[in-house]
Amino acid sequence: MASETLFPTRQRCKACQKALGGGGAEVLLGLYCSARCAGMAAPVTDPTAAPRECKTQRDGQWVFKRRYRSISEIPERIREDASTDHYWCRNHCGALHIGHSRINPGTEQFRMLQNPADLADLLVKLRGHATRKQVAEVAGVRPIRLKELEEGIGHPESMATLFKVLAALCVRAGVALRT
Ligand SMILES: [Zn+2]
Ligand SMILES: [Zn+2]
Repeated sequence: MASETLFPTRQRCKACQKALGGGGAEVLLGLYCSARCAGMAAPVTDPTAAPRECKTQRDGQWVFKRRYRSISEIPERIREDASTDHYWCRNHCGALHIGHSRINPGTEQFRMLQNPADLADLLVKLRGHATRKQVAEVAGVRPIRLKELEEGIGHPESMATLFKVLAALCVRAGVALRT
């Protein structure tokens, strides 16, 4: 995919040859004019039902992440900020999203968590570009269990799953005993 010509250099949908992106129309994965052409399901309209990588929490509410059609549409100050990363939303909307606070194992060695959402967020960031299925397979858990952890949905096996997933992600949990 890295070698494929992407929108805006690409002018036509890879599947149906229709003109791409006219009048601000969506472009999926830099290649396609529609979810159908991209071979993806139509995205949900309710952010709470969207996968974690497509949404973000604002004032305690889930909202969709901003959708960019190409790297060139991402504002330069965001693109050049070393603490951000961008990724294609391959499982849902097909747009580029910005991820904040990319985890740099070279400089960040310990992270304090204030609430369950912080843990969920950390798990998503540690997973990075790997799919849930890939991480779940390494951890030896069902992908649904990982999804629950990442979305803060309780399950009786959550605690056991968490430690398996952390091991698969090559990190360890800790508690600061004196603060
Ligand atoms: Zn098309
Ligand atoms: Zn998305």
